[in-house]
Amino acid sequence: MQDDKRIKISNLNELIKSCKKCPLHLSRTNVVLGNGNINTKIMLIGEAPGRNEDLEGIPFVGLAGKLLDSLLNENNIKRDEVYITNVVKCRPPNNRTPNKEEVSSCLPYLIEEINIVKPELILTLGRTAGEAISIIFNYEWEGLEKERKKIREVMFNGTKIKILSTYHPAAALYKPELKELLRDDIKTASKIIGNKHKNLIDFM
Ligand code: URA
Ligand code: SF4
Repeated sequence: MQDDKRIKISNLNELIKSCKKCPLHLSRTNVVLGNGNINTKIMLIGEAPGRNEDLEGIPFVGLAGKLLDSLLNENNIKRDEVYITNVVKCRPPNNRTPNKEEVSSCLPYLIEEINIVKPELILTLGRTAGEAISIIFNYEWEGLEKERKKIREVMFNGTKIKILSTYHPAAALYKPELKELLRDDIKTASKIIGNKHKNLIDFM
């Protein structure tokens, strides 16, 4: 079962690495694949790689990632215990928000990641990720302020998945009030999954 997951994710990653489905492939240094533990209970989804991520080929390695790591650590969750990915896998020029066409070109990869990892909880970071997930699961996006106050539940290929939406750590870097809300939401996420992530010894 776990080997099966590993084979599926590496096949998927091979496909993404050579993807040229949208114009973002033209300016990327590296494709930024999902990263972390595929047997996790919790999957975090950001918007798109930034400059550091594009250079290193790993999600959330810049300042926003450092903040995210520290908020996870406050709840005793280590970065390599969760799976982290982005809505689009290639960096948009000047870190602009990815447009609708780019998001819809890349969305099948995210859907397949969810299908393989089958997390108990998805935590979306920022509006782009929140909206992308609402498109995948076919519900109306009510805006971050409202969405972060509810835990949605969806069925996906026979698995129940909870969805919690919160602010993006990059926004929280410059707005202390958002940082506190992000902190609260990460704590909520950690309570939802309990300590289950600690039982997993099989890291990718
Ligand atoms: N912001 C994101 O949304 N994703 C990253 O990987 C880094 C910064
Ligand atoms: Fe392909 Fe996604 Fe990169 Fe566009 S952003 S080229 S769809 S991997």
